[in-house]
Amino acid sequence: MVKLYNTLTKKKELFTPIDKGHIKMYVCGPTVYDTAHIGNARSAIVYDVLFQLLKFHYGKVTYVRNITDIDDKIINAASEKNSSIESITTHYTKAFREDMKSLNCVEPTHEPKATENIDCIIRLIEHLLISNHAYESDKHVYFSIESYPEYGALSGKKIDELDHGSRVKVGKNKKHPGDFVLWKPANDIDYKLSSHWNSPWGKGRPGWHIECSAMAYAYLGKDFDIHGGGIDLQFPHHENEIAQSKSAFGGSMFAKYWVHNGFLTVNEEKMSKSLFNIVKVRDLLDSGIKGEVIRHALFKTHYRKPLYWTRDIIWESQETLNKFYRLLRSVDIASIDESNTEVYKDFIEALKNDLNIPEALVILHEMATKINKTNNEHKKLKLTESFVKSARFIGLLKSTYQEWFTVGVDHQEIERLVNLRKAAKKNKDYDAADKIRDQLKRMKVTIFDNEDGTTTW
Ligand code: AMP
Ligand code: ZN
Repeated sequence: MVKLYNTLTKKKELFTPIDKGHIKMYVCGPTVYDTAHIGNARSAIVYDVLFQLLKFHYGKVTYVRNITDIDDKIINAASEKNSSIESITTHYTKAFREDMKSLNCVEPTHEPKATENIDCIIRLIEHLLISNHAYESDKHVYFSIESYPEYGALSGKKIDELDHGSRVKVGKNKKHPGDFVLWKPANDIDYKLSSHWNSPWGKGRPGWHIECSAMAYAYLGKDFDIHGGGIDLQFPHHENEIAQSKSAFGGSMFAKYWVHNGFLTVNEEKMSKSLFNIVKVRDLLDSGIKGEVIRHALFKTHYRKPLYWTRDIIWESQETLNKFYRLLRSVDIASIDESNTEVYKDFIEALKNDLNIPEALVILHEMATKINKTNNEHKKLKLTESFVKSARFIGLLKSTYQEWFTVGVDHQEIERLVNLRKAAKKNKDYDAADKIRDQLKRMKVTIFDNEDGTTTW
């Protein structure tokens, strides 16, 4: 049984799906105005592992992670770069996907964009207006938090505490300072950048919170199992999503479980442009650090806890993965059956316990020690297979021993030369075979002619 900590109830709960034949999960994805930092990556990786676990346990899982492609930050980036909104969002969406792929994340089932769901957003706002949960004021449409008495259930905030002294932005047209915008009129910059759509309330664009309510409904329906995102989104974003969706769909529970990943900080400070401490995934990759090392480093603390990023974390992860890969030296990894059925039981149990990845990593270390201590070759191979399958389950050990330790080597070229040499030997052209061996040597590649007639390098 899978257990998950539910931010809504503040308890670790047994996960009981709405329909165990089809699990549904929505996660707040990136705002595409810049390349991903390691905080964004932490969030993507946490839900990537949860996705694998749910698929393993239940089979069919629909995982939706949206792309916020209309937002003030995007508009500012387009203005600064004198570029169109579309070229900014297309560029950074592609970059985000590439970066997450480098970190061995699989693609979600759907990645809807806010701008492709404007009709659904407008219909949802109309619904809220008709049911008196929203009101128009000076070309804006606001959600009325007083119309939803359960407001604050997720964050613990009380409606009457959200007064003028709080950090909620006060607008002169709002009935209550906590009311938030569902639709705002286009301003001069919106006209210049064409970041506006027609609506019953004039040309404008949606507020951020309503986008996620609309996309969750469009792809998963009124009720679904899990809603995830970083803990920074608990309030106001997720609180507002709940208020909108539950008000629009009377009797709906919206998301049954709320999962939040802890924040990642750099040297114990919040990552921020003004502190010049933003660590980008792309910069780490460009400096030669492998995606898998970054992934492993992001597993360092339990997903709900904060993660304090330091340079040392990277080196520790590199060491650990080097140690793990050394165990694969004599294993034909390609022959390992990728089906997950033999993933080590204790390893899976750790993941089922509120996604305890650090505990699962301890189990991997214990398995590595066992493999090293075993002299029985058959047992060693079986243990190694189970070890590899477990590690791969969380997106590690995806390479072979050779790929891992031969950075910057053109594998295809080596394979081509090895095959050429094989053919030369077969034709008894030993001169040519020796020349190829020398050529490989100059490339710092040693080849071994094994007793069983195979050649490895
Ligand atoms: P954003 O692109 O800022 O909208 O964020 C995309 C996802 O990354 C959201 O689920 C955020 O909650 C999450 N996120 C953003 N910054 C961090 C961080 N420093 N640590 C962990 N998660 C984060
Ligand atoms: Zn969202």
